[in-house]
Amino acid sequence: MMQKRHATVQEVGMRDGLQSVSGIMPTHDKKRWIDAAYVAGVRYMEVASYVPAKLLPQMADADEVVAHALTYGDLTVTALVPNLKGAEKALAAGVHRIVAPISVSVAHSMANVRKTPADMVEEFRRIRELRDDMDKVGRTKLIAGLSTVFGCTLQGEVPLEDVQDIVLRVLDAGSDIVALADTTGHATPGQVDRFFDALIPQAQGKLTIAHFHDTRGMALPNTMIALQHGIHEFDASLAGLGGCPHAPGATGNVATEDLVFMLESLGYHTGIDVQQLLDARSIIQQALPQAVMYGSLAHAGLPKAYSKQSNIEKAVV
Ligand SMILES: [Zn+2]
Repeated sequence: MMQKRHATVQEVGMRDGLQSVSGIMPTHDKKRWIDAAYVAGVRYMEVASYVPAKLLPQMADADEVVAHALTYGDLTVTALVPNLKGAEKALAAGVHRIVAPISVSVAHSMANVRKTPADMVEEFRRIRELRDDMDKVGRTKLIAGLSTVFGCTLQGEVPLEDVQDIVLRVLDAGSDIVALADTTGHATPGQVDRFFDALIPQAQGKLTIAHFHDTRGMALPNTMIALQHGIHEFDASLAGLGGCPHAPGATGNVATEDLVFMLESLGYHTGIDVQQLLDARSIIQQALPQAVMYGSLAHAGLPKAYSKQSNIEKAVV
């Protein structure tokens, strides 16, 4: 029998998903969502973004949402911060991981954080220094969230050499973890293969997270390729909510429920119950009736003969 492998699925819908929809999910419903995801078995969540409320009113309640998530002792809580000020708040709130978005595309970086990629790396270095200052034991891990890695709606092609350059810079700046994000849904399996081939040997074991959007239906094939390269942590959003306000057309993270279904079928243990995820979609539907919800499983239903156990057993025999 094959050795059971683990894969981590981080729910990012409360951050990536909600920042791209026009309505504002009430704090109470965000907490319900966190509760439902936790009950379904999700142990990694990116729940908020520390950005000025006037820029992103959807994230104005970051402190309260983070505090709620931290009530679960074994939940790894991540927050996104675009700058030093946000990092200060996130560290004070006590999150386990901070992800700073560093766009490899110059055009996207300017639109998103009004800094060039190289300047953003310098901000990242200052965030690292602040972390070392405020958190002597390094409990809060710093993730360099490289975005628009596989293409950009504003700039078009993003050369692999540019990605390699930024990977070396963030490692030098003290990144604990490097994540590659297909912010705009440009990535194709062939490209993902080529990029990971080049980047993994460079990344000193720190490139461990992939973040795919399903804009062109490629998120799951891209995940398959990333798995072959040893990546075992993936971001996803319930009902495929997601996008980026500065990347037009970049709709939809990969749907958490579809990703979990695929990973479990391959013999990866995620600890997450697909049916409970499907049930949790109703929270989004009730709180944001206008939001577009994606997901093949939700539309087709689970296969008639499906049971979590048989799905896994077939894969590990
Ligand atoms: Zn995203």
